Amino acid sequence: MSDSGTDITPTEDAIMSRPSILISGASIAGPGLAFWLHRYGWQTTIVERGESLRSEGQNVDVRGAGREVARRMGIEDDIRDAGTGERGTQFLDADGAVVASFPAGAAGADGPTDELEILRGELARILVEHTSTDTEYLFGTHITAVEDLGDGVDVTFAGGEQRRFDLVVLAEGMRSRTRALIFGDQVRIRPLGLYTAWFTVPRIDTDTAWARWFNTTGGRAILIRPDNLGTTRAAMSFLSPPRGYEDMDRDQQRRVLRTVFHGVGWQAPRLLDELADTDFYFEAIGQVTAPRWSTGRIALLGDAAYAPSPITGMGTSLALVGAYVLAGQLAAGGSHHDAFASYERIMRPYVDQAQKLPPGVPRIANPKSRIGLKIFHTGLRFAAGPIGSRIGGLAGTLFSPPADKIDLPQYSS
Ligand SMILES: Cc1cc2nc3c(=O)[nH]c(=O)nc-3n(C[C@H](O)[C@H](O)[C@H](O)COP(=O)(O)OP(=O)(O)OC[C@H]3O[C@@H](n4cnc5c(N)ncnc54)[C@H](O)[C@@H]3O)c2cc1C
Repeated sequence: MSDSGTDITPTEDAIMSRPSILISGASIAGPGLAFWLHRYGWQTTIVERGESLRSEGQNVDVRGAGREVARRMGIEDDIRDAGTGERGTQFLDADGAVVASFPAGAAGADGPTDELEILRGELARILVEHTSTDTEYLFGTHITAVEDLGDGVDVTFAGGEQRRFDLVVLAEGMRSRTRALIFGDQVRIRPLGLYTAWFTVPRIDTDTAWARWFNTTGGRAILIRPDNLGTTRAAMSFLSPPRGYEDMDRDQQRRVLRTVFHGVGWQAPRLLDELADTDFYFEAIGQVTAPRWSTGRIALLGDAAYAPSPITGMGTSLALVGAYVLAGQLAAGGSHHDAFASYERIMRPYVDQAQKLPPGVPRIANPKSRIGLKIFHTGLRFAAGPIGSRIGGLAGTLFSPPADKIDLPQYSS
């Protein structure tokens, strides 16, 4: 109802004339875009390859401008309420003793534990819940063919169904397959020489409210973090040149992890045991670089366009901010060409900043030798100590790039 009480339910003609968009990927960027575009009067459809919303993944940070976008969406409290309650991050030595502690928020917005930490799956759930009434969700299918006709895009889905949309946006994550159909090899994934497996294990009595980060020689690390669902989130990482492990099937990946972490102490035996019947998300950590983020009526968003890697803790914030800016530019009234161009112009400097890794990362946080481990732990002790804490942001420099280097435009809905 309008202010005057007149019913403003759109007529069928008005609905038919609303621009339509197909967004591929229902994690963070995709539902974020649908949220804003629906508010601007668009018809939004999301296609997600998974049979249902995926729940895997560890804590992601919503920081800086990402947090401001969450505030503008009105979901900041939902995020806080569903937070993991992580108290901070502790680094452990070979015996499991604490070497250095960084309480949440201690390094400003840029420490290893941010003030707004939420499981990736929980954030996706919140975003989907806020969009499911007005956005059409198609789970368990994906795009197999796309034809940009100039005045619309014809899309074929895995079941053979064909539909036409005004625009298509790919928010399929770092290894987007549809992107390859459209952009060919223009988009590069820069491997950072690190593999990570993320998974969920039953919580045991010795698990604490701290994220605990254990390093051992050979560039191997284990991270165990609390969650808000009564379970524990685990990550096993190791340095390695690209070997295609990410393309192997789960059993082969399990064998790789068992071999790499064989003989490693602390929680490694527990996690390797759990891996036997747990699904996990295995990733070759990398950054996505693309010379452009759109062609014709098709654009890239989030990790599919500019994954900065989990090492930066910025992927989720870039996805939320990118969705906000892309939707705002599309709703500004110009052509989609202009909207895509200004989305890229506004976001590029922010993305470039987020993708800048401190020198030596990720090797510095995954030492290979005993001496490397010693140097790493000495650096952490210093950063966590009174002098390091006083040099504001020293820990931040070690862990994350600045998260607020963008002037967020104001859009009116
Ligand atoms: C399962 C999972 C676990 C993750 N765990 C972590 C973590 O622990 N720590 C961290 O920092 N980051 C993690 N990430 C990455 C993090 O979510 C992103 O960096 C960031 O939030 C940006 O999100 P995005 O929406 O752009 O991409 P993503 O979060 O990668 O989401 C892409 C979505 O697209 C779907 N998809 C992929 N291909 C297709 C296709 N062809 N058709 C339709 N749908 C498709 C995927 O299933 C997924 O839902 C994880 C991502 C996923 C998918």
